[in-house]
Amino acid sequence: MAKIVGVTLSERVVTGLVIDHRLEGGLRCFPEEHEDEYALVEMPAEGIVEVLRDQVKATVAGHNDVVAVGLGVPGLVRNGVVEEAPNLPQLKGARIADMLGNALRAEGISAPVTIANDADAFAAGIAATTGKLDAVVRVWTLGVGIGYGRYPATDGVWEGGHTVVTLDEKENYCGCGGRGHLEGIMGHRAMRLRFLDMEPEEVFEAAKKGDPRCVEFKRLWHRALAAATATSIHMSGPSKVYLTGVNAHFLDLPMLREYMREMVKMSPLQSYSLEVVEDLPETRVIGAAVSAELAAGS
Ligand SMILES: [Zn+2]
Repeated sequence: MAKIVGVTLSERVVTGLVIDHRLEGGLRCFPEEHEDEYALVEMPAEGIVEVLRDQVKATVAGHNDVVAVGLGVPGLVRNGVVEEAPNLPQLKGARIADMLGNALRAEGISAPVTIANDADAFAAGIAATTGKLDAVVRVWTLGVGIGYGRYPATDGVWEGGHTVVTLDEKENYCGCGGRGHLEGIMGHRAMRLRFLDMEPEEVFEAAKKGDPRCVEFKRLWHRALAAATATSIHMSGPSKVYLTGVNAHFLDLPMLREYMREMVKMSPLQSYSLEVVEDLPETRVIGAAVSAELAAGS
């Protein structure tokens, strides 16, 4: 049974020991719960690598047979390099797998380090924890931005959150600056820019009570997600589609399913399914470990 350390890096570093796709013991967190969540944002890349090294070292403690370290990183990741990281810009261009590997070797830990996009790692985690490692999994994470991950990992780029879902030139709220993007409609940050006088929670509450502007936005929000999902299905076939993240509670699944029915009409493409899952840190950590295992095997 392969022992692998799974690590996710976002506002926090979360680390766990994964044996046979299961978490062994608890999760380790930096900064700990309720501590300064901006600690990492303000650190240079070297500082982040030191944090990662210390957290991995503490997780490995006593286990001399760890065979790999898998790290999930938000952003565009290729060949061990972070090519783009909007939320941790200091990582852009960093050869983070090499940096962490070297730092660990200096501590006597020789397990190879592989990195994956965190959304893809999350998709791998869902596949592993639902016992569907032979299935194709897509996952949308509805948060500050919109994450899109897919499993199994293949070479390529799928910045699904930036799928163009409208040709309306006024739609320019996306964090990347692009026009007409899914994230520019669904992202938490984008919703706050659109409704300067209301928080997203208030918008969805008001929609329930029939406020016309908010009802119209709720429909746009669901149509945008249906459009991006339909595009993904038209480009690479149907699969299980999972929905998660802090804003997944805004979802009205019957409404989303109705828009999907309007947008995907070819019968061979209609075997997709939509399911809401909880965004658990353990799923992400297991997914980072599974991604490392699969990378080692390929
Ligand atoms: Zn964008």
